[in-house]
Amino acid sequence: MREIVIVSGKGGVGKSSIVASLGIIYAQEYKVVLADTDVDAPNLHLVLGAKLKNSENIAASSKAFIDYDKCIGCMTCKDICKFSSIIGVDKPIIIPYSCEGCGACTLTCPEDAIEIKEVVNGQLNIFDAGNMLLVAGELHIGESSSGRLVDIVKKRARQEAKNSQAEMILTDGPPGIGCPVIASVKGADYVALVTEPTPAALHDLKRVVEVVTHFRIPLGIVLNRSDIHPESNAAVKKFAHDNGFSILAEIPYDKNMTMAVAHGRPVISAYPETPASLALKNLAAALAARINELS
Ligand code: SF4
Ligand code: SF4
Repeated sequence: MREIVIVSGKGGVGKSSIVASLGIIYAQEYKVVLADTDVDAPNLHLVLGAKLKNSENIAASSKAFIDYDKCIGCMTCKDICKFSSIIGVDKPIIIPYSCEGCGACTLTCPEDAIEIKEVVNGQLNIFDAGNMLLVAGELHIGESSSGRLVDIVKKRARQEAKNSQAEMILTDGPPGIGCPVIASVKGADYVALVTEPTPAALHDLKRVVEVVTHFRIPLGIVLNRSDIHPESNAAVKKFAHDNGFSILAEIPYDKNMTMAVAHGRPVISAYPETPASLALKNLAAALAARINELS
């Protein structure tokens, strides 16, 4: 069983649309489980028009709680909190959105009045995406600990893949270079980095390349909307060439991709013979070839 993760340094470059179409293509040949680890803004189910089967509360965060029967109002806890999560003058009030659950306040409280408890901060959703199962995490608004939720999504996707004897887990990872990206790529067999030919996307691509290479995971680059700016296209290719990375595919700008998203369908299903769909088939073949080369 192989785990392929698709990430992007920059948001809005078409990553989820690409993952949705790749899933459809691969599911014709392999048993595929999809995972959406973009837990701040999961939308793969929308691109696929998938149906929710099951939803579970996830407690992947810890917060401080004060027992006011014990509290004497000394405010030592307020002084020690580096996250400014405790306010008040003679009665401490914890701001749950900023509390990181670090526990420093519990160590300094003279009355043992503070307890760290796990709290529900997200959902684990299972979707029926036709002949694929989609495991997706969704962090509640204002919550942190997204890396822990990503871990939970990945473990569940692996379990579902084992149960169904799937040959592939295809993961729609988050944008950026933070904790959820690291949690998403850890343990992957191959990472495809989606970018577009703009200076901002190239800048972010270089940053996410550093993260993936740190974990020594083989990677390739996907140039989406490849024809929107020839100079930046050349700059991305130069970066790839200079660093020994392959360009797996160039997907031209195609308004059918946007139309497909508007209709809640992957472009490969909605408009299978358009330039974007043909390029996505090439991408699927190139990615499969790279996976087959792995030992
Ligand atoms: S657990 Fe940490 S972040 Fe939360 S209130 Fe206590 S010291 Fe502040
Ligand atoms: S340190 Fe303990 S006793 Fe003092 S204000 Fe905070 S919770 Fe109350």
